[in-house]
Amino acid sequence: MTLLDGKTLSQKIELNVQAGVKELKSRSGSVPGLAVILVGQDPASAAYVNMKKKACDRVGFYSVTHEMPEDISQDAIENTIKMMNNNPNIDGILIQLPLPSQIDTTKILELVDPSKDVDGFHPYNVGRLTTGLDGFVPCTPLGVMELLKEYDIDVKGKNCVVVGASNIVGKPMAALLLNANATVEICHIFTDDLKKHTLNADVLLVGVGVINLIKEDMVKDGAIIVDIGINRAANGKLVGDVDYENVAQKCSYITPVPGGVGPMTIAMLLSNTLKAAKLNYKEKN
Ligand code: NAD
Repeated sequence: MTLLDGKTLSQKIELNVQAGVKELKSRSGSVPGLAVILVGQDPASAAYVNMKKKACDRVGFYSVTHEMPEDISQDAIENTIKMMNNNPNIDGILIQLPLPSQIDTTKILELVDPSKDVDGFHPYNVGRLTTGLDGFVPCTPLGVMELLKEYDIDVKGKNCVVVGASNIVGKPMAALLLNANATVEICHIFTDDLKKHTLNADVLLVGVGVINLIKEDMVKDGAIIVDIGINRAANGKLVGDVDYENVAQKCSYITPVPGGVGPMTIAMLLSNTLKAAKLNYKEKN
């Protein structure tokens, strides 16, 4: 069994982004800028934003976090986004999800200028992804594809089973696999007999949020396992959706949690923001 080591690859990608920032700065005089909107006090969201901010600092981006109270109005968030859409120092805008229930999340995501949509959540970029056109692709599934590429895993013609069908993980994951010519199945909470589907997987990609959802008897011998889940276990440790100890004995490749897909997500945010900055610079010159 080989570990799909996202930590090491993400460090490599960060070095490339760092070099890209220097190169862009020497041409344009400015560095990529990322703005983050963080609403409320959720500790997990605050921790993710903090990790993203630190990563921005490491590669030399300009970054700003707009922290807003839980009871913020729709108008106030919208005004902040409009401001950032018009701010030439900002190349990427990230809205940390989930937003509180009084906020219309769809309206917020649709307000982000698609050329600054480094999370790839705007319907314009979602449409470009599903039609196989270049655009901004959600960071987590993009990171998975980079990780597979690093280990020379070509999904073409393989049975890829995605468990979880959210807009930010499962659906874009499936679209990327399909674009890479895999045969793709998507399972979700209403899928009948999950095991029947997962046993068919050459590559099993799981992003659900349920500890130990995937057990050894649900996995084909020699399968490639990508665990996208991040859950806090009762003992405080971070774990994925796959029963790692037992499944690892059976598969050919597996991502650890932590150290697999998580660091790749942040690396892809950096590379998407650098891409946005380069495109924005090109447009202006
Ligand atoms: P979500 O709640 O929006 O979606 C969960 C999906 O899983 C849904 O499609 C649902 O139908 C499906 N599901 C739920 N229970 C199921 C079950 N018992 N069997 C089959 N399918 C089931 O969650 P999300 O935002 O997509 O996140 C999913 C997981 O991925 C979470 O653990 C989250 O923390 C993690 N995540 C990790 C990263 C990363 O960087 N590695 C990034 C984003 C999300």
